[in-house]
Amino acid sequence: MNFSTDKATTLYKKTVIFSSVLLLSLSLALTGCKDTNSSNLSAPVLDQDDLQPVSFWVATDTHFLDKNLQDGGQAFQTYVTGGDGKMLPYSDEMAETLVYEAEQKKPEFIILSGDLTNNGERSSHQQLTEKLKRIEQQGTSVYVIPGNHDLFNPWARSFSGDKQLLTDSITDKDFVKMYADFGYEEAVSRDKESLSYIVKAAPNLWILMLDSSQYLNNQKYGFPQTDGRIAASTLSWIDESVKLAAKEHASVITVMHHNLLDHTTMSVSGFKLNNSQETINALRKNGLNLVLSGHIHLQDIQVDQAAGNQDSASSEQTPIYDIATSAMAVNPHQYGAMTFDPLSRTVNYKTEPLNVEVWAKATGITDHNLLNFKAYAENIFATNSYDKAIDSLKDSSYTESEKESMAKVMSKLNVRYFAGTTDTISKDIKELPGYKLWEEPQDGFLAGYVQSMAEDKALSNVALEVVLTKQ
Ligand code: FE
Ligand code: MN
Repeated sequence: MNFSTDKATTLYKKTVIFSSVLLLSLSLALTGCKDTNSSNLSAPVLDQDDLQPVSFWVATDTHFLDKNLQDGGQAFQTYVTGGDGKMLPYSDEMAETLVYEAEQKKPEFIILSGDLTNNGERSSHQQLTEKLKRIEQQGTSVYVIPGNHDLFNPWARSFSGDKQLLTDSITDKDFVKMYADFGYEEAVSRDKESLSYIVKAAPNLWILMLDSSQYLNNQKYGFPQTDGRIAASTLSWIDESVKLAAKEHASVITVMHHNLLDHTTMSVSGFKLNNSQETINALRKNGLNLVLSGHIHLQDIQVDQAAGNQDSASSEQTPIYDIATSAMAVNPHQYGAMTFDPLSRTVNYKTEPLNVEVWAKATGITDHNLLNFKAYAENIFATNSYDKAIDSLKDSSYTESEKESMAKVMSKLNVRYFAGTTDTISKDIKELPGYKLWEEPQDGFLAGYVQSMAEDKALSNVALEVVLTKQ
């Protein structure tokens, strides 16, 4: 009749609609609860709020070293300079930066895909789990698997003055206990024969964490076995796990320490899984089309386009991507920042540098190296590469200035190669006189290495968008 009555009617209608929506969602929620206790195959009901894209990170080869295991003395210095470019003196500071960045940016979860510690030292594992606990207290879940350096490692050492001292490593059983909160307790299913598990990480997204390392003979060998494989029993377990995910129509991302695909044209063994083709077949059969790996320490993305030429599109033709994220311990100290859209099932990946400068500033650190970490770390890495190139050329017949130019090329290429950016900016390097010298026919690992670094490649190594298969 009048305006205010209309208003009241509208208000009444809104209340009724609102209440029925509430009732409807309540009943849906209850149905959802029932489903989990029955053998009903229908998917659980997801709230619209749950269907927002989630952000998560993947970091690998953190090679964390407990700072109490080194005194900065001669033995440690020698070990660091003679090593493979790991920034061990600032291991603790980088881990602290990861905790800080997670607090600032609040990813839903963080995946650590193995080689968590330098050489499996018990106290490094202990210190690292303390930091991971803090990340979880900030509201970010953490999921880990071991790498080839983490368990039964006879190389576990502390450094005191001019001496390296044996220190305790951990077993596979210790690992499950120490990292209980970081995957093993949350697992929907665990493989009986390895440290593999599958976990619900976000709405419509499960993560299959595969243990590809072979550590059981390390003590006998006296060194940590480098190469990896997925055991036959684990491959069967994958089939069962994916069926569990399929009941909830989730998508699955696979994580392993070793690489599924080749990330270098050099014939270097030990990076790619020993049974890579068998594993590719198993993943493809299960519709698993994205793998996150590490181990090779450099940043590289590869795709396996299915062989065979069937007429109709089928799962046998799904391309499988393997993103090898570069080692967090090595320049440019980056990780993969990822998002997953539960509606479109789209995953995005992009490398993100660990911002040590910002952490150092916020924490009131006065160490100049930490306040200028990016430049400091790149300079150390470049110098190390340069020195190694000069050393390897010392017996060659090149003049001193030729050797210097070649070493300069090697050093510049190496910086970009590890970052995954050789494809976009290698022209300026190719114009250096040393580059032509490397192109001259010559023997030796380094010549082939320089060639392989400079190769053009269509696929970006630092960014990827891929739609996951819906199970
Ligand atoms: Fe590693
Ligand atoms: Mn490794």
